[in-house]
Amino acid sequence: MSGASSNGHRLVLFDIDGTLLSAGRVARDAILRSLQASFGWSYTPDHEDRGKFDFSGKTDPQIVRELVLEDVGADRFEKGLPRALEIYLEELERQLLPGTVQPKPGIEALLERLAAEPRVTLGLLTGNLERGARLKLAPPAFNRYFPFGAFGSDSADRYLLPPIAVERAHAHCGRRFEGKSVVIVGDSVHDVACGRSLGVRAVAVATGITSVERLAAERPDAIFESFADTERAFSAIVE
Ligand SMILES: [Mg+2]
Repeated sequence: MSGASSNGHRLVLFDIDGTLLSAGRVARDAILRSLQASFGWSYTPDHEDRGKFDFSGKTDPQIVRELVLEDVGADRFEKGLPRALEIYLEELERQLLPGTVQPKPGIEALLERLAAEPRVTLGLLTGNLERGARLKLAPPAFNRYFPFGAFGSDSADRYLLPPIAVERAHAHCGRRFEGKSVVIVGDSVHDVACGRSLGVRAVAVATGITSVERLAAERPDAIFESFADTERAFSAIVE
């Protein structure tokens, strides 16, 4: 089995929004425009009140579903979803201008450190559609760190994404990662919970909209205010 097992190696899977970067209101605005164009659906303050605008930890198809399903009905939703996501990606591409993407504190140094470590394989684990993910990662030139990943375009259910990422890691580098050799890094309670459901390690970072206290309640293996301290973050991730 030598060379094929995960012994000593780590598969480190990064969430994007709130963890690697912030795209400000660009993604939210792109979604709202796409829903207007595809379903004639418009945002009202009532939607905000119902908590539908907490997108963190959700997949793009799930976000669209939660926003419009009640208002447009299941039939129109199913029929309109592909077009809505297509318009969303076009809007995202149009609106992601230089300066709209802010990398999170310390993340670039941490990615450099992890990429230079031979025992680490890096991947993405994100609710973004793959094309949307690649668009967001392009301005800070982060795509080069992530040759593969599992995306919202693979499944609308975030909890089904980790096994897909593990399969792609195997296809990419020939290693079978399992259990604690897989590390999920994210800023939402869903990142931590979807890690726990698989017995993998979860490292939480409070650089998104979720507080340290709220993340701590999900009992991640490690938790950070930010990744500003590269060595401390690196040690917790590859532990
Ligand atoms: Mg996130």
